[in-house]
Amino acid sequence: METIINNKYKVQSVRDLTDSTYVVRINRYGMQFKAGQNLNLGLAGDTEKRDYSIYSGINDDYLEILVKEVDEGLVSKKLKRLNPGDQLEVDGPFGFFTIKEEDENSRKFLFIASGTGIAPFHSIMRSHPGIDFKIIHGIRYSNEAYEKTHYPKGNYISCVSQDKKGDFIGRVTDYVKQNPVNKDTLIYLCGNVNMIYDVFDILKEQGVPSENLHAEVYF
Ligand SMILES: Cc1cc2nc3c(=O)[nH]c(=O)nc-3n(C[C@H](O)[C@H](O)[C@H](O)COP(=O)(O)OP(=O)(O)OC[C@H]3O[C@@H](n4cnc5c(N)ncnc54)[C@H](O)[C@@H]3O)c2cc1C
Repeated sequence: METIINNKYKVQSVRDLTDSTYVVRINRYGMQFKAGQNLNLGLAGDTEKRDYSIYSGINDDYLEILVKEVDEGLVSKKLKRLNPGDQLEVDGPFGFFTIKEEDENSRKFLFIASGTGIAPFHSIMRSHPGIDFKIIHGIRYSNEAYEKTHYPKGNYISCVSQDKKGDFIGRVTDYVKQNPVNKDTLIYLCGNVNMIYDVFDILKEQGVPSENLHAEVYF
């Protein structure tokens, strides 16, 4: 195995999923992490760093992150232009947005994401293939259903607000209103803060206890 020097991780590839969203794959160098955790990274030598959830699974021999290029964004634009062999400075893993071992085989999970907020759930699903889960993915256009074939059929539901080609036409909030959640389900939310607050309010009205709710805010 190649050794790691000064937290510098070599880029293996950049895989475009849409015009603005892509997956960066880097060497793992044996990094241990829990599915749902994130990395803090930027271009080697650059002072600007950002947090990115790990997209790959704990058994993959590489690390991946799923990134959306943000208009005027300082880091996400640079990551899109990476080439194989380039280097990233990476710290981590960080965070507690993970599932508990004792819940893994005994509980039902509902994962609710907006946009690239699906990244930690991709890692969790890949790392713990036996878990009983459903993913509700809020996106604007149906082509943002990033790598939906990776999820077992029936476990992934796109909620598309701007075209008519989603599994559900409308926002995740509409989906959750129309499909009340079982109170015993463990619910994980990730992505935009407004989506998270709006869904929290609906779940509270549905009587979901707060100890069953977990959230990771991206922006
Ligand atoms: C714990 C954590 C995990 C994260 N994981 C991911 C991830 O897996 N994938 C990912 O793409 N991003 C993720 N983010 C967001 C990421 O850290 C950056 O904020 C994002 O890439 C923008 O950085 P930038 O330097 O390009 O833009 P900046 O120059 O920092 O900011 C530009 C503006 O873009 C806004 N913004 C940030 N993200 C988005 C977005 N997705 N859509 C629209 N506007 C946005 C910011 O609020 C800011 O106003 C995560 C954030 C946190 C806190």
